Amino acid sequence: MFSKILIANRGEIACRVIRTARRLGVATVAVYSDADAGALHVQMADEAVRIGPAPVGESYLRGEAIIAAARASGAEAIHPGYGFLSENPDFVDQVTLAGLVFIGPSAASIRAMGLKDAAKRLMEKAGVPVVPGYHGEDQGLVLLAGKAREIGYPVLIKARAGGGGKGMRRVDSPDDFAEALSGARREAKAAFGDDAVLVEKYVEKPRHIEVQVFGDDHGGAVHLFERDCSAQRRHQKVIEEAPAPGMTAAMRKAMTDAAVKAAKAIGYSGAGTIEFIADASEGLKPDRFWFMEMNTRLQVEHPVTEMVTGVDLVEWQLRVAAGENLPKTQAEIELCGHAFEARLYAEDPSRNFLPAIGTLHHLDFPSQVLPGCLLRVETGVRAGDAISPFYDPMIAKMVVHGPDRASALAGLADALEATEIAGSVTNAAFLVALARDAEFAAGEVDTGLIARRQEALTASAEPTAETVARAALAASGAGEAAGSADPWSSLAGYAHFHPMARRVVLRRGEREIEALVAADAKGGFRIAADGATVTIRPGEGDKGQPRAGGVRPPRAARWPGNVTVFSDGAAFSFAVDDPFARAAEAEAGTASLRAPMPGLVKLVRAAAGDSVIKGQALLVLEAMKMEHTIAAPHDGVIAEIATEGAQITDGTVLVRFVETD
Ligand code: ADP
Ligand code: ADP
Ligand code: MG
Repeated sequence: MFSKILIANRGEIACRVIRTARRLGVATVAVYSDADAGALHVQMADEAVRIGPAPVGESYLRGEAIIAAARASGAEAIHPGYGFLSENPDFVDQVTLAGLVFIGPSAASIRAMGLKDAAKRLMEKAGVPVVPGYHGEDQGLVLLAGKAREIGYPVLIKARAGGGGKGMRRVDSPDDFAEALSGARREAKAAFGDDAVLVEKYVEKPRHIEVQVFGDDHGGAVHLFERDCSAQRRHQKVIEEAPAPGMTAAMRKAMTDAAVKAAKAIGYSGAGTIEFIADASEGLKPDRFWFMEMNTRLQVEHPVTEMVTGVDLVEWQLRVAAGENLPKTQAEIELCGHAFEARLYAEDPSRNFLPAIGTLHHLDFPSQVLPGCLLRVETGVRAGDAISPFYDPMIAKMVVHGPDRASALAGLADALEATEIAGSVTNAAFLVALARDAEFAAGEVDTGLIARRQEALTASAEPTAETVARAALAASGAGEAAGSADPWSSLAGYAHFHPMARRVVLRRGEREIEALVAADAKGGFRIAADGATVTIRPGEGDKGQPRAGGVRPPRAARWPGNVTVFSDGAAFSFAVDDPFARAAEAEAGTASLRAPMPGLVKLVRAAAGDSVIKGQALLVLEAMKMEHTIAAPHDGVIAEIATEGAQITDGTVLVRFVETD
């Protein structure tokens, strides 16, 4: 086994690889771009090397910089993760040339499977069923259109260098062929620098079923059963599962045999995935599935396979790359239970899934799911981290294992529903809706399911009166103490709360909501807003509270300038007037900075005599159970600053600047 490896990736997959390496006693070297200097994968690794500025072309795709980092740090091998350089055979050659081990297949295997047309020709020769269609070199319009007619419409035009669902067009009639072809070519050229295409029969009621394969350098090759990735949006996977619903013994035998045959045909070593498309119009039939492509790397959705087989695929990758035999024989690999993975993204389903960016001010994953289920959260971010425009906007993969499909799916919906993310919009509510969709629950998945149900799956709910009340309560600063025995004590210290009703103003888009929050005699609160009065009893909505009737009460989280309420899988955010921002604004240009409300000085980051610049964080104040960073309203020299741990009242001078003219 290696003693040290470098991980040429970022985010959740880098963290995932580091965890297994650590368990095996293998030291890890992370690489990072400037945007990731403080990222989780950098923190987790034993060492980290900067490889360049934020854009991927200047950092994570710079093979020579990564190899130099590996050599300088004494790493013996490089794990590429997925994406980036993972399927780049030239990189593999350079790694080998540098005397390092690439943790993955040989450059020759990657080349053999790199282009979909050549891969299909190769598989055809090996006796693996391939999607009927044209995968030749000739690319003339007349020839391709003729082939499409021979194949029979509908057809699918695909970029041979394609990936991630790009460069693909379904064509339903010959009239649309020429235009679809030029569209696919344009997209392929832009994304992959190669505009060659193949034309395939568009399979009816298509299901994407893929087989995890594994080979070693000693001729061993096994499969680790199948995954169903039919829940797709625009040819991209959304929720994956293992095993495939409705799989029969005959179908599984035919598919896994074909997959192992494909891997053996290229002497494959390492983790790989053979993707098949199946015609499920009459259920799964052993003669109605065809090879689509091979992914010569660890797949994003590999955890579902790990959950149902108990195999750590990254451990196998390291062992095989170190020259060991496959740790298990085919007979020793067993299937147990059912697993789902949902891809949680910073994207806006209500705006056609537009990718979003932002700071994840509040991020809280559940630590457990329904009894009998097992939860695994794969993430590369922590609360306070940002989803930047430079990389994939994935926040986490929620992976749930259960004894059977129905339990695992209920566990997935529950885990998603219990997840709290604020600061960026996410697809969580969409995923919850999909996990609870009746058609999906019935196992009637095909790649068109999401599009058919899109409207229902992306319908955005309006906040209920209870949601608004929760937001107002949290904004008032009293909400988190709602469970305490003495409601009046929870308001103690906030002298300006007298009388015991507080007015808060929330904004949601254009709408302004005024609410009155009052403590009631029973230890709860009465919140009047929008013409409705809602009573919140003590303890309601506290973390960890058991669910009543399967419904988790709405929970609120505060973050700078906002309150977000999580209810039934959705996140409703409200802007709250921020007295600290207002105070800083009002005092811009003056010689002192006063506390706009009482609180505790938690942290002081500057000292008397320091020169500071406008916007620089000077201290952190805890007030209304929330931390507020107080920044310099202008450039200047500090004459005096509050001391850490001091309890202050409103109006107290926090910072005094040296007077200038
Ligand atoms: P998979 O095929 O492993 O399920 P996808 O189909 O979603 O993954 O990925 C499509 C392509 O985008 C693949 O080549 C994959 O390696 C790449 N990719 C996916 N996610 C990321 C990511 N977070 N960073 C970089 N590349 C990624
Ligand atoms: P990529 O490299 O982008 O992953 P694939 O060839 O794996 O490209 O296809 C991506 C998705 O497109 C598949 O998962 C499937 O949903 C759909 N697809 C591909 N080929 C066909 C086909 N012949 N008929 C119907 N759908 C297809
Ligand atoms: Mg694919």
